[in-house]
Amino acid sequence: MFSGKTEELIRRMRQVQIARQHCRIFTPRLDTRYTSSQVASHSGARLEAVPVSSIKEVIAGAEGVQVIAIDELHFLEDRPEEIVAGCQELADRGLRVLVAGLDQNYRAEPFPAMAQLMALAEQVDKLYAICVRCGAYATRSQRLIDGHPAPANAPTIVVGGLDLYEARCRACYEVAV
Ligand SMILES: [Zn+2]
Repeated sequence: MFSGKTEELIRRMRQVQIARQHCRIFTPRLDTRYTSSQVASHSGARLEAVPVSSIKEVIAGAEGVQVIAIDELHFLEDRPEEIVAGCQELADRGLRVLVAGLDQNYRAEPFPAMAQLMALAEQVDKLYAICVRCGAYATRSQRLIDGHPAPANAPTIVVGGLDLYEARCRACYEVAV
């Protein structure tokens, strides 16, 4: 959240395009903050993307492509093991697979698919936002409802902007109860 993940994904995919490799970017349909056929960073960088609901659609759309990218992976609706198996299948075929997503939900629990992919990936880069309270590196997403920490039983995934989530460090993060 606000760590520049999409910005970095776009930067890397631009390099792939400059290298004239066949590439395709996929973005979960659930994320409707921006035009559905593009990925867009908070700072306004944009690239054309294919909206998908499942990893099967990613696999179907990866024919004839050398490099694929999936933005906001934590929004894919499949079971975690299906997402991991799909990414592994594509990588085993020889594709370069770039994935961006949150590693933890607002309860500071790992998103299972991201946790497994971080273990299996050849390269992992953790990007950090800045804690809005103290200025340290933020590793967590504080979910706020009416300005108060969201209860632990709130639904995990809500697509939103500044009004719903804050980047916070471990010390400033308030545990949901
Ligand atoms: Zn802090």
